[in-house]
Amino acid sequence: MEYFSNQIGTLIERLSSLPGIGRKSAQRLAFHIVNMPEDQVEALARSMTDAKKNIHYCRECQTLTDGDLCPICASPHRDHSLIMVVENPRDLAAYEKTGKFEGVYHVLHGAISPMLGIGPADIRLKELMTRLAGDVREVIVATNSSLEGETTAMYISKLIKPTGIKVTRIASGVPVGGDLENIDEVTLLRALEGRTEL
Ligand code: ZN
Repeated sequence: MEYFSNQIGTLIERLSSLPGIGRKSAQRLAFHIVNMPEDQVEALARSMTDAKKNIHYCRECQTLTDGDLCPICASPHRDHSLIMVVENPRDLAAYEKTGKFEGVYHVLHGAISPMLGIGPADIRLKELMTRLAGDVREVIVATNSSLEGETTAMYISKLIKPTGIKVTRIASGVPVGGDLENIDEVTLLRALEGRTEL
């Protein structure tokens, strides 16, 4: 038997399809939304569609941005010859939160996973190689310490080695399989400082 009207049911279903939102949370959110003032609901919906419409990949580092370049790539205060490679924008945010990294980033939007059929061409590696034609002194591979992250790190190292550019890997103080975004700042900084050449 259906407890809820069709429209509430659809709203709950849509919300529960989002990552990290279970059925219970989706219900709680749905009831909250229907009790919100109409203008607030419209503003929420608009911010979602606006973000979807206007946000794209940064021309340089491939992170999400609404400009041509993200604020980090556009900044003259960052060291553009030092590139940290991360799997996703959340990992970039985790390192940015430490406030200690002065280089720039490259966001792969995934990791190589033969199991899931994700190959080198499915992540933003070509864009990374294009950037290396510029003035780059070091590439720090900060992919996760999962099997996919390690596979990707090895692949990147093999790809970059012939160019003569220094390739380093963050120290494995990061728990195996740990998502970078869930790791505290001290551990992240230790991993960065203890990086070793690949
Ligand atoms: Zn950028």
